[in-house]
Amino acid sequence: MDYIKRCWAEIDLSAVEYNVTEYKKLLPAGTELMYVVKAACYGHDDSLIVPFLQEKLGAEYFAVADLDEAIRLRGMGISGDILILGYTLPEYAPLIAKHNVIQACTDLSYARELSKNAEGTVRVHGAVDTGMTRIGVHGTAEEQAAELSEIAATPNIALEGIFTHFSSADGTAQADDDYTNMQAERFFRVRDLLTAGGIELKHAHIKNSAGGAYGFGEGSTLARLGIIMYGLYPDPAKPLPFEPKPVMTWKAVVSQVKWIDAGTAVSYGRTFVSDRRMKLATITAGYADGYPRALSNKGEVIIGGKRCRICGRVCMDQFMCDVTDLPDIRSGDEAILMDAEMNADHLAALTGTIGYEITCGISPRVPRVLIHNS
Ligand SMILES: *Cc1c(COP(=O)(O)O)cnc(C)c1O
Repeated sequence: MDYIKRCWAEIDLSAVEYNVTEYKKLLPAGTELMYVVKAACYGHDDSLIVPFLQEKLGAEYFAVADLDEAIRLRGMGISGDILILGYTLPEYAPLIAKHNVIQACTDLSYARELSKNAEGTVRVHGAVDTGMTRIGVHGTAEEQAAELSEIAATPNIALEGIFTHFSSADGTAQADDDYTNMQAERFFRVRDLLTAGGIELKHAHIKNSAGGAYGFGEGSTLARLGIIMYGLYPDPAKPLPFEPKPVMTWKAVVSQVKWIDAGTAVSYGRTFVSDRRMKLATITAGYADGYPRALSNKGEVIIGGKRCRICGRVCMDQFMCDVTDLPDIRSGDEAILMDAEMNADHLAALTGTIGYEITCGISPRVPRVLIHNS
């Protein structure tokens, strides 16, 4: 394989396939998948995963964060629909059309700006704000439908669909369920008003990973599947109908092994001082790889099948861990930073964030490599 083993991430496509296959079983007939591949597939490397989705899984709908990512997908030979979920400056309207990308349309003024700059038709999905309060037409359902109708009537703009985004479909409280159902009701009311007004929509979509997994927003034409495809939970506090398989195994190498005496200070700031004679290993990964510094004195790595606790602060490119119980460890051994069990959700729980942020934060200097190409 064509990469240097210092700190790398192994990507298992059979896990992607498993997660997608199991997830599809949860969707009602008539709901198709839109694969959310923004942020380089949540840090997993879109160039490894996206072609597989099209060629092996028959994916026809993709969602990205920006125009750059959309053009990148076209460069990979992706021929299906690509929706930009975020904002693109109106001056790029000709590029959006040239690459046959669908732009999320935040409101009427944006549609008019796109229209002014367009050279040809710009395809859009109208964003409907039903309670996320991020992007989308705002106001009562009647006002929203009226604004969307004006977007549909804007020259050079083809309103092909509408969508909204759940804020709390992964929540564990009854109030979260109530809010999510309120969002869905609002959304379908806007859709019905548009339909009654004679506006034909190819798509009206509302489900994210959690929405699809927990059965919210039935009637959505698409489920925008993100985090569960990568084998992580929308929220680990809320069980899923199936156990997704984490797609990434993150690895580094043992660079040095040594015994230290009791009372030895380890790493920057001397936040760890040994209370006994112990064996330490140095690992070739650090926060410049995206390994959180917040795991200092907290995280663990797996070496030779055993969990080893991090000692002292995580440095930019290295950190130390306790390997006293590993008699055979030597430099050059592999150290697992993250695997299916000790996964991104686990690291996130230790550092007060979410699995999404952990995998998205793995830096570009970490090569992503395929370990299974089914
Ligand atoms: C990121 C995103 C998704 C995917 O969310 P997951 O929780 O990863 O499934 C879906 N829809 C929109 C609008 C998004 O921004």
